Amino acid sequence: MKAAIVSAENPGKLDIVDVGAPKLTSGQALVDIEYCGVCHTDLHVAKGDFGEVLGRIPGHEGIGIVKAIADDVTNLKIGDRVSIAWFYQACGTCEYCTTGRETFCRSIKNAGFSVDGAMAEQCVVAADYAVKVPDGLDPARASSITCAGVTSYKAIKVAAIRPGQWIAIYGCGGLGNLAIQYAKHVFNAKVIAIDINDDKLEFAKEAGADLTFNSSCADAAEWIQEQIGGAHAAVVTAVSKIAFNQAVNSVRAASKVVAVGLPPETMDLEIVKTVLDGIEVVGSLVGTRKDLEETFQFGAEGKVSPVVETRCLHEINDIFDEMEEGKIQGRMVIDMHKDC
Ligand SMILES: [Zn+2]
Ligand SMILES: [Zn+2]
Repeated sequence: MKAAIVSAENPGKLDIVDVGAPKLTSGQALVDIEYCGVCHTDLHVAKGDFGEVLGRIPGHEGIGIVKAIADDVTNLKIGDRVSIAWFYQACGTCEYCTTGRETFCRSIKNAGFSVDGAMAEQCVVAADYAVKVPDGLDPARASSITCAGVTSYKAIKVAAIRPGQWIAIYGCGGLGNLAIQYAKHVFNAKVIAIDINDDKLEFAKEAGADLTFNSSCADAAEWIQEQIGGAHAAVVTAVSKIAFNQAVNSVRAASKVVAVGLPPETMDLEIVKTVLDGIEVVGSLVGTRKDLEETFQFGAEGKVSPVVETRCLHEINDIFDEMEEGKIQGRMVIDMHKDC
């Protein structure tokens, strides 16, 4: 079968090669891949940023049709449409797995990193961990929901925002734009979008932001306190330390600041404000199977719709270049049946 693998000859790139089809073992389903979204994480995997994985098939925004199941699989049947997500499999028995926090399992497997992923014609999934895609949800959009969608949705859920309350979303790129849509159309919150790029803020308005603010030359926290007396929660998708610091200062007392972006820096947390105002700073990482099921359902109902563009597998290294140059609006999704 045709697959993209992390190249040994061209560092940071993928090679398109012919490899043997994956073998189905106990508890697994074999999936014919239809679409696989391209995520920044795939670029990190290709570059070896999380550890070198030469020969690995990346891809954790996979959507496909179940072609075969192992004898012991009961939750999936041939013909089901399922996802292949970064949260590929966990142990199922540890303190995190048994308390609804399975994405923090210490024995987690990640599709496209610790096991082969979905940038191939076929992929095997752990059947218990594959989430079904509901009817009525376009599979190309579903691929983007599998990672960016569920990550944004989960962050808003963690923020515990209630209808009518104000939430500040820092960073209006791919994740931030989706976070605005979930906050607005699923949680019924009022949204303040913050970015340093006017084009992205314009895009944020279209996604439903009530207020927008360009923080390139002014402090968003001060402005938010002035305008509405502080937000009831903040979600930071921006890969910027400044955004994290402003987020903490932009919320009201007893509010949550949810960290999603991953700048390789530390944030300044004012102890007095944190204590006196009871501020909670909490990290949020992808989402559980249940979170993904909910996110798919909101997609099927048309409440949130990721912007996607389909490409051919052979274009994967071009897509990586475009990603690094910041040229991509929305999500690039590989159509496995496209051949250019
Ligand atoms: Zn991803
Ligand atoms: Zn576990």
